[in-house]
Amino acid sequence: MPRITDIGSLVQGLKGYPRTIFNRLFDIREYTGELVLPEGIRNWAGEKFGDPAAVEKQRLVKITNRVTLEGTLFNNLRGMRPLSRAGGKRLGEIIEEQRENCAFCRPREKTTADIFGRLAGNGAITAANVAKYDRWHGLIIPDEHNPLTFDSGRVAEYFALAGRWFQRVLEQAGAGGEKEPLYPFLMWNCLWPAGSSVVHGHLQVTVTGGMHYPKIEQLRRAGQAYRECFGTNYFGDLCVAHRAVGLVVETGEAWYFPSLTPVKEKETWIIMAGESALARLHRLGRAVGRVLECLRQTGTTSFNVAVYLPPPGPVPEDWEGFPLLARVVDRGDALGRTADFGGMELYAASVVSADPFTLAQRLRDSVTTGV
Ligand SMILES: [Zn+2]
Repeated sequence: MPRITDIGSLVQGLKGYPRTIFNRLFDIREYTGELVLPEGIRNWAGEKFGDPAAVEKQRLVKITNRVTLEGTLFNNLRGMRPLSRAGGKRLGEIIEEQRENCAFCRPREKTTADIFGRLAGNGAITAANVAKYDRWHGLIIPDEHNPLTFDSGRVAEYFALAGRWFQRVLEQAGAGGEKEPLYPFLMWNCLWPAGSSVVHGHLQVTVTGGMHYPKIEQLRRAGQAYRECFGTNYFGDLCVAHRAVGLVVETGEAWYFPSLTPVKEKETWIIMAGESALARLHRLGRAVGRVLECLRQTGTTSFNVAVYLPPPGPVPEDWEGFPLLARVVDRGDALGRTADFGGMELYAASVVSADPFTLAQRLRDSVTTGV
């Protein structure tokens, strides 16, 4: 199995259209970072990182997406750094302790409702977020308290309920004479490193007005500019480039791939082409659930999921060719003390240790056997 440090030679071996597309999309730089290990820490380095020689000459790969200007610096040694974590209790105990006074375990009495009431789904119910960050901001609250207890079937139900909530908001806005273009957004923050303040699992749904959130609009604009320049669909070519180096898992209705420019550890994209994004949320949820099951098996206890949907109603700008798209990212140890986002991620480029090729192999096993 190749590793991310083999990416340069993998691309050298490509021919024809895939090579053209890959080089059009990605800039790759490979370096060796050298340092000197004093005798006093040579043994320590060997214990922490395995081989002192691999510390003295570190293999670094920098990948930049030329179209979107997303970029990542890979160094697998960083995943072996000694990190501090909250001592004492285990994660399972902390989750169970929260159950007794958990408002989300009694959502009808203890959580706020939308002005149109609540929608009940299969194994989940909606609420309004008590401190909204947009005019329409709701929650999908599973019946299950433990945020790490789910399977792909349940995730499909949560996504289906999100689709119904979006539809309900659009109807409500239409009935109120809303003229502004509206844009749904679905996300899921699991546990503290992912930004969640409530232990009980919950997905968040928003509908924003005027234009989409800047990161999503930026991606739409990049895709539109790409089509105008090269005449092809950016997202299709993104899949072509990832497939050319062996990172794509296809199931017939979706393309899954660990991103070559992950925003953080193990970021995986799921792309579904086709019409009527709201109606297909159920199927996308199943696909996201499969990826989360795979990540959970490899130790993920905190994650973010984001779903980009082409707007279902009339909007002034062109969303032609923009797929239904989910991004799933591992946020590390739920009890970890060291934030995985630092100055580099906020202001420069992402720094990642997980190897996309290792993850692709695991995804291939769990996604295709789950179908
Ligand atoms: Zn609960």
